Amino acid sequence: MLPNTRLFIGGEWVDAAAGGRIEVVNPFDNEPITTVSEARAEDVDRAVVAARKAFPGWTALAAHERGRLLLRLADRIEAEREPLARLEATDTGHPIRDCLALDVPRTVLCFRYFGGMADKVEGSVIPVDAGFLNYVVREPVGVVGQIVPWNFPLMFTSWKMAPALAAGNTVVLKPAEITPLSTLRIAELMAEVGIPPGVVNIVPGYGHTAGQRLAEHPDVGKIAFTGSTATGRRIVQASAGNLKKVQLELGGKGPNIVFDDADLAAAVGGAAFAIFHNQGQACIAGSRLLLHERIADAFLDRFLGLARSIRLGDPLDPATEMGPLTSRLHQERVLQYCRIAQQEGGTVLTGGKAPNDPLLARGCFVEPTVVLARPQDRVCQEEVFGPFVSVVRFKDDEEALGIANGTAYGLGSGLWTRDIGRAHRFAKRLRAGMVWINCYKRVHPGSPFGGTGQSGYGREMGFEVMREYTQPKSVWVNVDAQIPPFYPR
Ligand code: NAD
Repeated sequence: MLPNTRLFIGGEWVDAAAGGRIEVVNPFDNEPITTVSEARAEDVDRAVVAARKAFPGWTALAAHERGRLLLRLADRIEAEREPLARLEATDTGHPIRDCLALDVPRTVLCFRYFGGMADKVEGSVIPVDAGFLNYVVREPVGVVGQIVPWNFPLMFTSWKMAPALAAGNTVVLKPAEITPLSTLRIAELMAEVGIPPGVVNIVPGYGHTAGQRLAEHPDVGKIAFTGSTATGRRIVQASAGNLKKVQLELGGKGPNIVFDDADLAAAVGGAAFAIFHNQGQACIAGSRLLLHERIADAFLDRFLGLARSIRLGDPLDPATEMGPLTSRLHQERVLQYCRIAQQEGGTVLTGGKAPNDPLLARGCFVEPTVVLARPQDRVCQEEVFGPFVSVVRFKDDEEALGIANGTAYGLGSGLWTRDIGRAHRFAKRLRAGMVWINCYKRVHPGSPFGGTGQSGYGREMGFEVMREYTQPKSVWVNVDAQIPPFYPR
């Protein structure tokens, strides 16, 4: 099943004005899957006009009606679980078992959660001076621009769209140029369940053209961006023209700390999931593994065994545990970091290369890679965004904390200990938007997701994100106040 591959603007499937198309490639064999229309600035402008036109009707709809449409969409996506999972696996290289167990259910849950949230965004009444009533309502921003990356295209489409729509905004969303297919399918399903034309518009295109135009567009009231820190900076600059609201979910270099009192079996499994799930292409990946020196050897013994046993293969094979990286370009980037690790004097304990297996030769594979490194090394400071974990040993809690907080990022973080006091002390002192204790990479639409430092600002999920997609309006009413004249005459 391939979705419609044109632009989705004003409820219609249309060709790009300049007629360009982008080839979409399967990273398992690097064969083309299809082509999609390539939106450029004038197409983004058309999409913004459609979103503006749809805004008054959508925002005037009773909140529970907006919610009902999102709930219907969640059911529709759930009914299409298998074909959607196959589409995502083919476009991104995610193993099908992960798409079925995580990507699709999390997408469903997100639309369902915010469908239920739509009519629960309440205002407040503020106790002010006698004789006055002051109430605050939260209003939608208007047209929201959303830009998503290629690592979880389906799930991020739901994370971005669901709260924005629940709050009464209309949306222009640009998927990543290499993974637009599941987002285009979601647009088809939205039309099917009755979300009105223009409420959602999808403009696949390149970042420097379509993305740039969306970020600088004078009629876009807010831009929500997930992607690299470097692009995040460009978005901030582009947004300055009309001072639009900006929300940034950027990179990370997640520390995952294993103390000497941890349950080692659980920590080994958790650390492997933290870095190898989705081939490590996750901003919250546990990409720095900090091991207490007393358990480091025993931990590594088991961890390396597990890393070497992960089954690489065809993403559509249910037995596959790790697929290819999502593009050839990205595979090259990750392999380059394997070389950098060695140049810096790191020790590659396993992996560090593309697999030799001839069956995988055409795909963008990198073996699960574990490298011993120093905290100041580039591979401990820069986001690799692949199945690549840098291991550092530590002696005591203070040293662990210094290393964990010693990068420019502050997104996900994890710790493994049986000492409940230590766990909470660390949770308080870690510079991170999210801390996982004796687990890793748990997400839920009710729990705020986002980072600090170079990992960005603003939050997805929960009530927090409803604040991001609304703005307060304070209304003052003189009920029975006697206001003495300011200029008595
Ligand atoms: P990227 O920044 O290159 O691209 C992300 C999106 O931005 C794409 O849709 C791209 O087309 C668009 N874009 C690129 N240049 C643009 C420009 N000048 N103006 C507007 N849009 C532009 O990132 P990527 O390589 O696609 O994704 C990987 C990065 O995303 C990693 O650094 C990762 O950590 C980050 N990420 C962060 C989170 C989070 O929630 N914090 C989640 C996933 C990924």
